[in-house]
Amino acid sequence: MKAALLYGARDLRVEELPDPRPGPGEVLARVDVALTCGSDLKSYVRGSHPVLAADVPAPFGHEFCGTVVELGPGVVEDFQEGDVIMSANSAPCGECYYCRRGQYSLCDDLQFLQGTYAEYVVVPARIVERNLYIKPADMSPEAAALLEPLSCVVHGFEESNTEAGDTAAVFGCGPIGLMFIRLIKQKGAQAIAIDPTPERRAWAADFGADIVLDANDDIAEKVASASPSGDGADVVVEAVGNVEAWRRAISVTRKGGRVVMFGGCPAGSKIELDTSRLHYDELSVIGVFHHTPFSVRRALTLLHEDMDILSRLATHELPLDEIDDAFKMMESQEAVKVAIRTR
Ligand SMILES: [Zn+2]
Ligand SMILES: [Zn+2]
Repeated sequence: MKAALLYGARDLRVEELPDPRPGPGEVLARVDVALTCGSDLKSYVRGSHPVLAADVPAPFGHEFCGTVVELGPGVVEDFQEGDVIMSANSAPCGECYYCRRGQYSLCDDLQFLQGTYAEYVVVPARIVERNLYIKPADMSPEAAALLEPLSCVVHGFEESNTEAGDTAAVFGCGPIGLMFIRLIKQKGAQAIAIDPTPERRAWAADFGADIVLDANDDIAEKVASASPSGDGADVVVEAVGNVEAWRRAISVTRKGGRVVMFGGCPAGSKIELDTSRLHYDELSVIGVFHHTPFSVRRALTLLHEDMDILSRLATHELPLDEIDDAFKMMESQEAVKVAIRTR
């Protein structure tokens, strides 16, 4: 089969590999569509990823919709050949300290699926068991492939405890920020979108943001005056992944408000924090990572309800052979997400 392998920074090669076969409990799927993603872009630029592409050359890609072509021994109950499937890119073990406490995103032994920029992908047994679903017939493959990133956003959104009537500000209007905007609006809250790029701000408005601000401006006063409290947003989501955005996210949150840190910064990054904001202002700074089987299930429902708008995130389409161009379009922000076609 044809598959893209990450060799290093901006070194992505499409090669001929042996066709994979499913082992016990595994499902072999033909990839119908794979979506590019912000964490893949980070790996592409840096040349590796601590979790997703630790040893190069590495199989690449994790958001997909596919068709079951072969079941491994032992997979009998829920899936059969020809089923169109969608899945998360990992599943927790269910046995470690964190899983036993329901903190599945912190599982010590997450099992990952990698290599969806390929003609075929093997879905690991644990994902088949916990995080694999059959695509609803009325959903497009592009929408179905959003299940994994939306699951992460649902997990982060649940931790934010956003309520109807709240004002929630979102830093960063890439695919993740745009999905947050949809969930904020679905909840009946007011969404403030903040991004330095005009195109991204236009997307945010299109996705339903009530107020759209240029991140290059002095935004603190604007966020405050747009919030019912008068001194900052009830909820702030950081979906950029740099310390400056983390710092600014904290600065526009009201007393007693909640800041959700979604964007991962480079390892070792540090922020300075005025302790009075945590203590006297009772600020909650909440780190969120990844997803849980519950957020995946919830994401499937939300995706189905909002698939017409969410599927617009796949702004471009390219064949697997041109995947390098897809990442160039991601890097220049020309594309929000690129749908990679493998056939
Ligand atoms: Zn992703
Ligand atoms: Zn675990």
